[in-house]
Formats: sequence, C-alpha cells, structure tokens
Amino acid sequence: MLSGRRQTEEAAERLLREAGALLEGHFQLASGRHSGVYVEKFRLLERPPQTDALCGMIADWARELSPQVVAGPTTGGIIISYEVARHLGLRSIFAENAEGGGRSFQRGFTIAPGERVLVVDDVLTTGGSVRDVLEAVRAMGGETIAVAVLIDRSGGKSDGPTARLGSVGTDFGVPSFSCLALDLPSYEADGCPLCEQGLPLTIT
Ligand SMILES: [Zn+2]
Repeated sequence: MLSGRRQTEEAAERLLREAGALLEGHFQLASGRHSGVYVEKFRLLERPPQTDALCGMIADWARELSPQVVAGPTTGGIIISYEVARHLGLRSIFAENAEGGGRSFQRGFTIAPGERVLVVDDVLTTGGSVRDVLEAVRAMGGETIAVAVLIDRSGGKSDGPTARLGSVGTDFGVPSFSCLALDLPSYEADGCPLCEQGLPLTIT
C-alpha cells in the first residue's frame, strides 16, 4: 500500500513537473506569505492528457465509495469535477460565488436529497473553497461522502478518525485523498529568508 502511495505521488509529481506547474523562485502567495515554490495549477489544467491522468487517480480512489455526483468550486475545480465525473460516468456540477459570500450551485444544478457527492478541487491550501462546496452541498440536502484534490499543500497533519493513507492534511470529516502532498515551507513576509537573500519577489 505504501509503495502504491509512493508510486501515485511520484507519477503525480512527474506530471506536474512535465507540465511546468511547479515553479521555483520567490513568491508571495494569496495568503500574503512568501514561499520558494509556487504551484501554477493552470500549467497543468491547460494540458488535457496530464490532467486526465491525475483525475483518473482520483476516480480510481473514489470508485469504491460509490459517489453519485461530482462537485467542485470555480474555477479550476470545474475542470477537475468534469474529468473525474467522466471517468466515473457521473454528473459534474460546480459551485460558484454566491451573493453575500460563500458559494452556491446555480445554473439549475440540482442535488437529490441524500445524493452521494464527491467534492473535488485542484490545489488545497487553506481549505476555504472546499468548505464552501461542502456547505453548498449541505444546503441542497446532499451528502458529501469524500473530498479529493490533485495537490495538497495545506501542510497539516490529519489525525482525526477519518485519517487514512493518502488523506489530505485538513480534516473535512469525510474520507479524503490527494494525488500529491507537497510539504512546502512558507514564511511571514517579515522573517522571509528569500527576502534576506534579495531574491526578486513574484506576486501570484
Ligand atoms: Zn520573501
């Protein structure tokens, strides 16, 4: 099982590097923190074969949980949801920004009461987008049965009752999966060693 997990991670990292999605340098992340590595997910998502391969890993993991519909947040999550749903032969829906905050399912998307929803996203950082989708699923009466992402850079350690091999570092209260977990250091702008070295900063 361990070697299977390692194979998954190695394959995922190779795909990301091939796609040029793992950038090294000096970046200011959306959180305001600085990091030496940035995941430019759209270098991956603009490549259907690589994106398809990673979404296939998610589908293979999720199949035994018998999801009935796949849902993701805008923007990258739409692509992940669609590809994973294609592998599983399911519907794909997405939650987008709602008036007054959070996300909701619009455009006539429906979830039947108790319908089993697999929630997916591209890169997990703070978990905010995934939580928005979980809330939107709840609001429609659906049941989220699992969360899966391409890349987990949340850096946390899940040790709750749902923790399992390959689970993400953020506990959403359901089984979770990532194709690749990246433990990437990031720094407060104040004590950033890359700033000290005088490396030019890229605002992401
Ligand atoms: Zn810095």
